[in-house]
Amino acid sequence: MFDNLSDKLEATFKKLAGQATINEVNIGIAMRDIKRALLGADVNYKVTKKFVEDVREKALGEQVVKSVSPAQMIVKIVSDELTELMGGENKPLNLATNKLPAVIMVAGLQGSGKTTFCAKLAKRLKKNGKHPLLVAADVYRPAAIAQLKTMGDQVDVPVFSIDAQDALKAALDGVDEARKIGCDVVIVDTAGRLQVDEGMMAEAESLKKQLSPDEILFVVDAMIGQEAVNTAKVFNERLDFDGVVLTKLDGDARGGAALSIKHVVDKPIKFMSVGEKVDDLDLFYPDRMAQRILGMGDIVSFVEKAQETLDLEKTRTMQTRLMKNEFDLNDFFDQLQQLKKMGSIQGLVEMVPGLNKMIPKQDLDGLDFKPIEAIICSMTKAERQAPEIINGSRRMRIASGSGTKVQDVNMLLKQFKEMKKMMSSVTKMTKSGRKIMPQN
Ligand code: GDP
Repeated sequence: MFDNLSDKLEATFKKLAGQATINEVNIGIAMRDIKRALLGADVNYKVTKKFVEDVREKALGEQVVKSVSPAQMIVKIVSDELTELMGGENKPLNLATNKLPAVIMVAGLQGSGKTTFCAKLAKRLKKNGKHPLLVAADVYRPAAIAQLKTMGDQVDVPVFSIDAQDALKAALDGVDEARKIGCDVVIVDTAGRLQVDEGMMAEAESLKKQLSPDEILFVVDAMIGQEAVNTAKVFNERLDFDGVVLTKLDGDARGGAALSIKHVVDKPIKFMSVGEKVDDLDLFYPDRMAQRILGMGDIVSFVEKAQETLDLEKTRTMQTRLMKNEFDLNDFFDQLQQLKKMGSIQGLVEMVPGLNKMIPKQDLDGLDFKPIEAIICSMTKAERQAPEIINGSRRMRIASGSGTKVQDVNMLLKQFKEMKKMMSSVTKMTKSGRKIMPQN
């Protein structure tokens, strides 16, 4: 997701790159482009308008700093404003410490990914030392209860359900059950409908009243764009929920929901779901998302996720090599192997600077790293360590050894070089404590 928006913003910054100063004229043009890019990404019109006004005002009011080019300054302002628009910082779950069990109520439309999210959240909480209980309060659809049970099994978390079609009883009995069996968090999966309807809302309201949840999370599918924002508004008016869970961010959602929802309902996005597997859940960090939109990838999330799932020793070595700018094709090959072990490939690919450009979109579903792997495997150790020695004849040998074309080898080498350059500028800036900005 966000590819289109990222490309358009990049083009806008490129146009500014040659300009010596910021003035009404070039800012006017840049703002017009940014406005179009945001509207094209399905960002709410009012949100877009305010965003552009804020950026313009900041850009024109900014002190001229000699070492910073106008393009860099605008990138920084846009990055800060995008971060602000999406809520500033990650807002954690609010679980009462003095009340056992804590209760999390999960609401949203049918098909939004609610049940899947409940299971993912249970897994996450369990990993953090909690003892969750999943409660099936979507009592009208036997399939929903069965799905929660299956997913509960997958994450090894108990699931409570009752036979009667009484959501309130299911939820309240679930809380009692949690006390009995020693669970400290209850996650209540409530009933969704295909569209907002009065019955669903009234039931959710009464659940809220009787359960007094510590946290109400509203789950919404990012793929439905502006409709997601409208639905969030309606749920918020009735439930005054605490946070939003955006799902299906691995799909080709244009990003409008992520960028508009916080502003429209004034509730933070707390989690994002990036795939169907139980590990495909991340905390939502507005600053990292902003950097990702600006095409810088997200090294921080990547390394964190790697640390959670992967061989820690290898990850540490990679981090050190990254910092020293020694990352070579051997490391890259190792990373690919590790990537394959981790949840959704597309989500991860988007986090690694440059990698999204190296792997064509259509290949992501089939995890088609094979040509890249074959090319790297056909290189000698020395070539992997110092790709710059790979001349024309070596390229031909590698292509024929890997069953690919010389153009494929050229492309891989070129993109690896770009990726390294980008990583090096990111690490440099991270080290100096500055916000991440591309150097032009
Ligand atoms: P519910 O009706 O709201 O409980 O939705 P489900 O949890 O049953 O999810 C509906 C469908 O969306 C299922 O096929 C899920 O596997 C899928 N799904 C849920 N979250 C994600 C996600 O983040 N990405 C993708 N691609 N699919 C998801």
